Amino acid sequence: MEDSIKKVAGYIAAAKHVVALTGAGISVESGIPPFRGKGGLWEKFDPMEVAHIDSFMKNPEKVWRLLISAMKDLLVSAKPNAAHLGLARLEELGLLKTVITQNIDGLHQMAGNTDVVEFHGNFAWLRCLDCGSREQTVEVELSQMPPKCECGGIFRPECVFFGETIPPKELDRSQIAASTCDLMLVVGTSAVVQPAAFMPVIAKQSGATVIEINPEPTPLTGTTSTILVQGKAGKAMREITAEVERILADKRQL
Ligand code: NAD
Ligand code: ZN
Repeated sequence: MEDSIKKVAGYIAAAKHVVALTGAGISVESGIPPFRGKGGLWEKFDPMEVAHIDSFMKNPEKVWRLLISAMKDLLVSAKPNAAHLGLARLEELGLLKTVITQNIDGLHQMAGNTDVVEFHGNFAWLRCLDCGSREQTVEVELSQMPPKCECGGIFRPECVFFGETIPPKELDRSQIAASTCDLMLVVGTSAVVQPAAFMPVIAKQSGATVIEINPEPTPLTGTTSTILVQGKAGKAMREITAEVERILADKRQL
C-alpha cells in the first residue's frame, strides 16, 4: 500500500480538478454496514429484494422494519471517519471540487464537503406517499411502523430504491462532474450498481485518471481504474492526504 499511497498523492497534488465517487464502503468505519462484502447486510437478506421499490409499495411495514430500522439508529448517530475528513481536507486545499456519493448517510456534508451530489438521495427527509408533504426524519415518530403523516399516509425515505430512476438533476450534475474532472477517486464502492458505476467510465473516456480505494478489486480495477489502493478507506485517505500536504508544502518552499 505504501508505494501506491505515494503515487496517488503525487497524482492528486498535480491535479487541477478532482472528483470523488463514494459508496457504502467509505462509511463502514463509521459503523454503517455496506450491502455487499464482509459484514454486509447481504449476509442477512437480499437488499436487491428488500430495498426494491416494488417490495416497499407491496409491504412498506416489512421494508421499514427490516432495512430502514436496521440502518436508522446508525444513520442518526454515525460520525464522519478519516476517509470523509480526508476528502473534506482535499476540498479545503482547493483540489477536490465535487463528491458524488451513493450513500444516504449525509456524512460527507457533516465532514465539510460543500458540493455533494447525493446520487441515491438521502435518509434525512421523509415524504408522504399520499399528500407529498416532507418531514425531517428526526422530527418523525419512528416507533410506529410504518411511520405515518398527519394525513394518515405512509412516509417513505427520500432515498432512491432499487427499481427507481436517479433524479435527473443528480444524474446531470454527476455526468458533468465526471466528464470535467482530470482525476476521479473511487472510494468504497463495489461498482456494480448502475448508473453510478458508469461515472468512472465517463471520467476515463473524458481523459481523467481513475484511482480506486477498496480492500477488494472491483469490475473497474485494471480496466477503468489505473491504480487500486488496496485497503480500508480511513487509513488510506489519512495517509494520502498527509502526503498531498507534504508535497504541496515542499512546492511552496521551492
Ligand atoms: P456495496 O455495499 O455494494 O459495496 C461496498 C464496497 O465497499 C465493497 O466493494 C467493499 O469491498 C468496500 N469496502 C468495505 N469496507 C471498506 C472500507 N473500510 N474502506 C473502503 N471500502 C470498503 O456499496 P455500493 O457500491 O455503495 O452500492 C450499494 C448501494 O447501497 C448504494 O447505492 C448505496 O447507496 C447503498 N448503501 C448506502 C449506505 C450508506 O449510506 N452508508 C450503506 C449501505 C448501502
Ligand atoms: Zn400526508
